[in-house]
Amino acid sequence: MSKYVIDQPHVTAIPVRGSDKSFPIRRIYCIGRNYAAHTIEMGGDPNREEPFFFQKNAQNADTSGEFPYPPESQDVHHEVEMVVALKGGGKNISVADALSYVYGYGVGIDMTRRDLQGVAKEQRRPWEPGKAFERSAPMSEIVPVSDIGHPDTGRINLSVNGDLRQEGDLGQMIWKVAEQIAYLSRFYDIAAGDVIMSGTPSGVGPVQKGDVIHCEIEGVCEMTTKVI
Ligand code: MN
Repeated sequence: MSKYVIDQPHVTAIPVRGSDKSFPIRRIYCIGRNYAAHTIEMGGDPNREEPFFFQKNAQNADTSGEFPYPPESQDVHHEVEMVVALKGGGKNISVADALSYVYGYGVGIDMTRRDLQGVAKEQRRPWEPGKAFERSAPMSEIVPVSDIGHPDTGRINLSVNGDLRQEGDLGQMIWKVAEQIAYLSRFYDIAAGDVIMSGTPSGVGPVQKGDVIHCEIEGVCEMTTKVI
């Protein structure tokens, strides 16, 4: 007999390269405006002001290779990002120690209902309807640090139907991965299973049903998803 009054909710987990075990997700943190060129395209100031984060739900992660166009939006944008998967955490982690908590890396898309996000910004409301919707975080498999180390430079790109839309380099991040972990740990208890989406380079834009989206971090991994 279950010890819960309802069936236990599903644990969302993503595959790990070279393993028959998967990585269970606890939380998804996403940093905003972390590449200068994207900050400018969104009307922000690319100088190094305090970082800011929002969250998606763990259940929003998806590795099916299909992205169902979500309801209540006519302007859904792709944002390709490096995914950082944590195997541990704590509070007040130092920048020097932060990378020791990383299990592995992948590539993902911070799918965004840009029209709803725009309304939220205008009305000073929360971003969840724009960011944290069903299957809004398509992700690749996770590649363990034991295989690839900690990539801090390398091309990150996204194409739609073969046309290059987004291109940048991990080295262009305003806040590096270690700094993101350290910063988050001042505000939250960071723990194994937490995932950080580390920001998007410039070139974000809309997707349509039928589009085939391919994204890649050179030397790390790639992923394809189809908008259905
Ligand atoms: Mn993003």
